[in-house]
Amino acid sequence: MDVPYFVEVDEARRIAAEVLEGLPSPSTVMVPLSEAHGRVLAEPLHSRVDDPPFDNSAMDGFAMREADVPSVPTTLPVQSTVAAAAHDDLPPLQPGHAVRIMTGAPMPPGADAILPIERCEVVDGDVTLTAAARTGFVRKQGENLRKGAVGLAAGSHLTPAKVGLCATMGHPEVPVVQRLNVAIIPTGDELRPAGEPLRHGEVYESNSHGLVGLVRGMGHKAHHHPAVEDTLDGLRQTLDDAAKSSDMIVTSGGVSMGEWDLVRRLMEEEGDLRYWRVKIRPGSPPLFGLWKGTPLFGLPGNPVSSHVVFRLLVADAIRAWTGAQGPRETTVRARLLDPVKSTKDCLTLRRVTVSLEDGEMVARQPRHQGSGNLESLASADALTLLPPGASGEAGEIVNVLLL
Ligand code: AMP
Ligand code: MG
Repeated sequence: MDVPYFVEVDEARRIAAEVLEGLPSPSTVMVPLSEAHGRVLAEPLHSRVDDPPFDNSAMDGFAMREADVPSVPTTLPVQSTVAAAAHDDLPPLQPGHAVRIMTGAPMPPGADAILPIERCEVVDGDVTLTAAARTGFVRKQGENLRKGAVGLAAGSHLTPAKVGLCATMGHPEVPVVQRLNVAIIPTGDELRPAGEPLRHGEVYESNSHGLVGLVRGMGHKAHHHPAVEDTLDGLRQTLDDAAKSSDMIVTSGGVSMGEWDLVRRLMEEEGDLRYWRVKIRPGSPPLFGLWKGTPLFGLPGNPVSSHVVFRLLVADAIRAWTGAQGPRETTVRARLLDPVKSTKDCLTLRRVTVSLEDGEMVARQPRHQGSGNLESLASADALTLLPPGASGEAGEIVNVLLL
């Protein structure tokens, strides 16, 4: 076979990224912030204002001049009150006075320190300070972001906090990467949609539901196909239609060595196959190539495998193609409390639960690790990233990828 076979994860990623680089990259569209959640920012976003736009109080309390209170307790006459959204020019603080101030209200000219309301007693028109006022309770204009500064880099995956920051910077709409149309095509004669009665030998089709969610979670559109039966003609027709209507095709099932593994056969005989099989366990059978010019990932049918391979290979390819920096993959170090079986030549991804115990991150493997056991994935917090040949003994500290 002359296509790369049983390749390292990094090599598989490189091959896919190179192929996608040769295809037109997704265009840029403007969307209002209400539609920006989960999308990928296409250009760097500069702040249109200083954040905060003016010096203001971080506390409910009193504004004053630090120098007017050399020691405590001290009593100052209260000059006036300033609320948040005080639009008009504020009168300057008179020497030796205090101004009642709300959180977020502009500092009166001349004031440089705040005393929180809990640290004083107010009697008639006077305030008695029981602690020193602090300049640290003043939020200075532009201390978070200066007008013109880049607050979000191109490629940012717009999480709720980042969408909020777009508004803080004064943008009602933002340039984002056009959503990819990703066709999700499960294959297999034995697959039935949940809700229908199962005959002996049949199982409920689950892979597509996970894959659709993974695509949408990256900010793209998933077209959810019903399961395709294992016939060459039917599968060819479905792939032809998908190639016309989508930017990427993700199939599941039918990529192993068996006679009925028709996705592999079609890609080998009629497609443009770029690799087959990758050194990961579970999930070693995947393939990647082009079908009629459209990139196609053929994922394994086993439910855990299809999900894991998406996370490791498809998500990486989508990020590379769209210039996205997220959703971020977070890897942490954890001490194994149970032994975890590694493999000789593959990156091994066992499903573990992680928790913090006595200040240390620990990982347990409470479930049997069959690649058909979707419950072991649904109940897991993380996947081990055990390099080939790692011992995986209890007590060892290993990298785990948070789910
Ligand atoms: P395959 O890769 O097609 O040989 O499938 C491997 C195993 O995964 C078989 O037990 C299939 O029944 C199961 N399987 C394949 N596709 C799906 C799917 N979409 N949903 C649930 N199980 C599947
Ligand atoms: Mg099958």
